[in-house]
Amino acid sequence: MSPAAAAAAPPARRRILVRGIVQGVGFRPFVYSLAVGHGIGGFVANTSAGVVIEAEGAVAELDDFTLALRRDAPPLARVMEVEASNLAPRGDRKFVIQSSDQEGEVRALIPPDVATCTACRRELFDPNDRRHGYPFINCTHCGPRYTIIGSLPYDRRATTMAGFRMCSACRREYENPADRRFHAQPNACAECGPALEMADGTGTVAVGTAALEAARARLLRGEIVALKGLGGFHLACDAANASAVARLRAAKRGSDKPFALMVPHLAAADEMCRLGPEDRAALEGSRRPIVLAPRRAEAGGRIAAAVVPAGGCLGLMLPYSPLHELLLADMGPLVMTSGNYAEEPIAAENAAALRLLAPAASRPALADAVLLHNRPIHRRADDSVARCFAGGLRLLRRSRGFAPEPVELPFVAPPLLACGGELKNTLCLTRDRSALLSPHIGDLETREAQSFFLETADHLRRLFAVDPQWVAHDLHPDAFGRRVAAGLAPPERRIAVQHHHAHIAACMAENQLSGRVLGIALDGTGYGLDGEIWGGEVLIAGYTSFRRAAHLRYVPLPGGDGAARQPWRMALAYLADAFPSGPPRWLPLFSQVPPRQVALIEAVIARASDSAHGRPAWLPRTSSCGRLFDALAALLGIRFDSTFEGQAAMELEAAAVRAASSCALAEIPPLPFTLATETSPWTLDFRPMTRALVSELRGGAAPGLLAARFHATLARALAAICLQVCKQHPEASDLRRVALSGGCFQNWLLLELVHAALLQTGAQVFLHSLVPPNDGGLALGQAAVAAALTTESLTN
Ligand code: ZN
Ligand code: ZN
Ligand code: FE
Repeated sequence: MSPAAAAAAPPARRRILVRGIVQGVGFRPFVYSLAVGHGIGGFVANTSAGVVIEAEGAVAELDDFTLALRRDAPPLARVMEVEASNLAPRGDRKFVIQSSDQEGEVRALIPPDVATCTACRRELFDPNDRRHGYPFINCTHCGPRYTIIGSLPYDRRATTMAGFRMCSACRREYENPADRRFHAQPNACAECGPALEMADGTGTVAVGTAALEAARARLLRGEIVALKGLGGFHLACDAANASAVARLRAAKRGSDKPFALMVPHLAAADEMCRLGPEDRAALEGSRRPIVLAPRRAEAGGRIAAAVVPAGGCLGLMLPYSPLHELLLADMGPLVMTSGNYAEEPIAAENAAALRLLAPAASRPALADAVLLHNRPIHRRADDSVARCFAGGLRLLRRSRGFAPEPVELPFVAPPLLACGGELKNTLCLTRDRSALLSPHIGDLETREAQSFFLETADHLRRLFAVDPQWVAHDLHPDAFGRRVAAGLAPPERRIAVQHHHAHIAACMAENQLSGRVLGIALDGTGYGLDGEIWGGEVLIAGYTSFRRAAHLRYVPLPGGDGAARQPWRMALAYLADAFPSGPPRWLPLFSQVPPRQVALIEAVIARASDSAHGRPAWLPRTSSCGRLFDALAALLGIRFDSTFEGQAAMELEAAAVRAASSCALAEIPPLPFTLATETSPWTLDFRPMTRALVSELRGGAAPGLLAARFHATLARALAAICLQVCKQHPEASDLRRVALSGGCFQNWLLLELVHAALLQTGAQVFLHSLVPPNDGGLALGQAAVAAALTTESLTN
């Protein structure tokens, strides 16, 4: 149709509702310019239901306009639904942006925080720009979002920017639809916005630009500086300064957990690690997670050894806020770790950060100085952690930059709350097909973490207007989630979900699978249906039910959770199982661990098989794969005591990777094992492997090579189980779909070997990418199981 004909045609009017992530991403200015370009009159408004548009113009223009809303949406927007209905024309010729409406059902979604965009970065370093060097520069396409939003709709007065009055220059940008800061809610400049402040033990020592310079100088001198990021405080120090890194380790209660590094730009990241195209894209993208990648040998001289004591991969990230950009300019890599003590949640309030400066009875001061500012953090969000594998980014911690973006479920769920696991906790709310996962909350052992959980649950419920009708939680009798559920819902509205069933359901849900799969869940600990501690499980699972097809042979778990901190205990358990007449005493373990402790634990283990008195109730058995890794690390003399859960497994993997680097992975010879199929469920018996390892070790084999062979054995054994399942169920094509989940799959060598071995059996393999394989993904699985069960009970 020619423009003249279009003008002559009678106008039509449509009401269009756009749902998804359409607020805080420059959607309204996009709609405005789209409307103007099509000669359309009417208005656009943010409502709690999403973006509402009334558009009036020629039908052909309206059609094209409606299509373009989805097709040409701004990069950060995620349009999930466009709903149009006809209205009577009113003669609107002009298109306007209306102010936000507070009423109505809240159905909008909010975006995660976004790293500084290229245009803002350019201005930040441009001496002629009015925001030159201003650490809070942002625009419609970048800046804080989730961490500053109190309620919806997303408007300045609902954010922690409410207390800052825009100056006339900022206001002009904010009100001009042609400006790239049009309705950028955190818009600010040095004149009117947040400002920096530097404090040390003596009080405030500098403000504004001087505070930034003081922080840089202190970092270069080897001091530890706490600095306020988007979702909380980091503790930072010069990564090359061995004594600074050592002090930071001591302050973090001596844990050997690897520290992440922030590097100024991609070229610096390239110097430290071997990066693939996906790694680079993840590092430079708008989400900016910590990306794990294999380090270059030459990187050694640039960073203190204590940054990654266990060796292996480095965790790198690029600056994601303008403050980081300024701080890192011309600087070497900085260690950036969460501002907290060991496992507590990240500190987010200025008062809490200032307390890091003061030594207390139980601990030294954590920081020498604090670089803070007066834009409050409404919600905490730790850094996300990811790694690339098989062509995709795999999350190991899903937090800043990702949460609270929804994960799409393969079905509609009733409103429910899933409480997640006890470790690496996240929680999940559901609304229709959306699973809304919280940022990383952490280990629920401390009171601080538990109140962070409750605050987050409350905040997300209000933010997304979800009134949970059901509460899902872990099966464990002492689970914190179970207590939460008891406080929120009557018994008939609570749903207990077995830990490994939740792992597999999470993998199914994010891969949009239905029906049944063969699920392999390998992890540390999860309470089993038989009251034992599970963790090496092969399940035939759907959302509503599962059957345990096979598991690792049970061994005693001497000392419960203490066993995770002392891998040598698990080695004794495995040795006692494999050598009933006593383990060989020449093993390094027996010269490294005090004999009295060995004797004590051996006595405990003996009670497990005491036929006269039976196994005492306080001595559980475990099929945990994580504990098997611990046992192997101690058996091979790689690690006897751990400072954090998973350390022994990480070092075992690192040793195996070093040993395996000289040969093709497929050529690593596996060790013997037995798959006992006469029992139900089947048991995977590694006693032959333990005996073979001991004799190889006696023969002088290198522990690293044996570690690699153990990985290969586990992969071979899992593939054997899959083949056996196929043999038993030749007609069940759904069981040719294998879902991998559980914290052990953070081990990249294991993932690679298992993935390859399963593909060789002809199976279709499904991995996690949207949520972590570790317990950070449990809430999604619990939600999927609970949703399926309740929907089933409603339809029956
Ligand atoms: Zn920007
Ligand atoms: Zn201003
Ligand atoms: Fe788990």
